[in-house]
Amino acid sequence: MTRERIVLFDTTLRDGAQTTGVDFSVEDKRQIALALDGLGLDYIEGGWPGANPTDTAFFAERPPLKTARFTAFGMTKRAGRSAANDPALAQVLDAQAESICLVGKTWDFQVRVALDIPYTDNIGNIAESVAAVVAKGREPLFDAEHFFDGYKANPDYAMQCIKAAHDAGAKWLVLCDTNGGTMPDEVYNIVAAVKDKLPAAALGIHAHNDTGQAVAVSLAAVDAGARQIQGTLNGLGERCGNANLCTVIPNLMLKAQFAPRFETGITTEALARLTSVSRLLDEILNRAPDRHAPYVGPSAFAHKGGLHSSAVAKDPRTYEHVPPESVGNKRIIPVSDQSGRSNLMARLAEAGIDIDAKDERVSRLLEEVKQREFLGYAYDGAEASFELLARRALGQVPDYFNVESFRVLVERRHNARGELVTVSEATVRLKVGGVDFHSVAEGNGPVNALDAALRKDLGKYSAVLADLRLVDYKVRILTSGTEAVTRVMVESADGKGNRWSTVGVSPNLVDASFEALTDSICYKLFRDGARA
Ligand SMILES: [Zn+2]
Repeated sequence: MTRERIVLFDTTLRDGAQTTGVDFSVEDKRQIALALDGLGLDYIEGGWPGANPTDTAFFAERPPLKTARFTAFGMTKRAGRSAANDPALAQVLDAQAESICLVGKTWDFQVRVALDIPYTDNIGNIAESVAAVVAKGREPLFDAEHFFDGYKANPDYAMQCIKAAHDAGAKWLVLCDTNGGTMPDEVYNIVAAVKDKLPAAALGIHAHNDTGQAVAVSLAAVDAGARQIQGTLNGLGERCGNANLCTVIPNLMLKAQFAPRFETGITTEALARLTSVSRLLDEILNRAPDRHAPYVGPSAFAHKGGLHSSAVAKDPRTYEHVPPESVGNKRIIPVSDQSGRSNLMARLAEAGIDIDAKDERVSRLLEEVKQREFLGYAYDGAEASFELLARRALGQVPDYFNVESFRVLVERRHNARGELVTVSEATVRLKVGGVDFHSVAEGNGPVNALDAALRKDLGKYSAVLADLRLVDYKVRILTSGTEAVTRVMVESADGKGNRWSTVGVSPNLVDASFEALTDSICYKLFRDGARA
């Protein structure tokens, strides 16, 4: 049986760029576009040329895509002028792109309230704008804005709008749930009805996640006959985001409801890079990955409960719906205070540590882990600290450096211009291979100053540590017994794209931070094979 092709359209660089707190540079966009192309997406929407300087610059030097169609986004022409005389539309039509996706209104309420023009004028604008794309020799796609709300309010008018786009030559009619409030069964019924009324049209779906169902809505549309899905990496997008392609893609490729019926442009090998593409986006946005994201989240295949982890060690299918490798993720069996010896052994194997379960040192390590967890250490999500702890217990980690002392000053004072400022300064004294080092650094806070001083000069290790940076820092105050202790989790990354997490615990915030920071440095030195 031949499988039908589902076309995947990525809008991370356009709709995803609307996310609060997201501000892509031209270089960011280029990097993301190349990663999406490498994955096998069919369309990459680069942005809206002419709408802002970043998008204009991005289109001026389009990225060298191998297979994906580079697509410019724009709006149907304004009322009261011809398509040829609309400067905004002209910039889109002139963009260096194979395809042009134009959004237009299809909900009578929006035409009346937002545009304030006669219904027939809006239909004319759609037809004329799509025809202008055809005249330019580009492939036109039509994004039917608010289509589902429009269809529920006035099905005849909504159909007239998309029919106008279709008749003018639109290759795809993409039905948008712009406000994200439509339920999957409504989407199914409406897409099926449109398919019935316009059997010759190729339909797409563009769903927003305001009810937490953008992925379900997209799949329901496919079931009803849509053959293009628009979405974003990691579900980026305005408000609650767009349909998350990192969830849509594995659902299409790995689930029995879809995999035998449909194929995408993504190969099995490329699917195994999905997690790394998802993390690349987080990296560019300088965000920690969403731990609980389906398929690609760091916790998507993490097994904490003792019962779960011992069963997973016997056969992963006991608590995993798909193999983590299929999407390039990995299984994590965290050591927690619920864990027994089998859990610890599985975790050691995960860290690449080969040791006999009956070895005396395993019992001692288990006791030490339990003791530390009682003190407030958490190794779930601090795998690097766990690995160091285990390898130290086995005598595998050299003493890279010894910290003799550190001191941190926080001073609030008036500067030369009479402004009140708070300055932090840290001093670290340490020994590297018998040589004394003494570094002083300033920072915007005590931990930042300490980190700067610690890494300022580590002698022969400086080259190895040059690409190390902190990407996330979290503080938790815990109460154990009568005293409050502070737990600090630090997430670090390096230039090779590796990420690791370390933990420190102390009644003192600076002390706990220092412990997590030194663990991070030692882990990097160990993994890069630095010689002590
Ligand atoms: Zn949208």
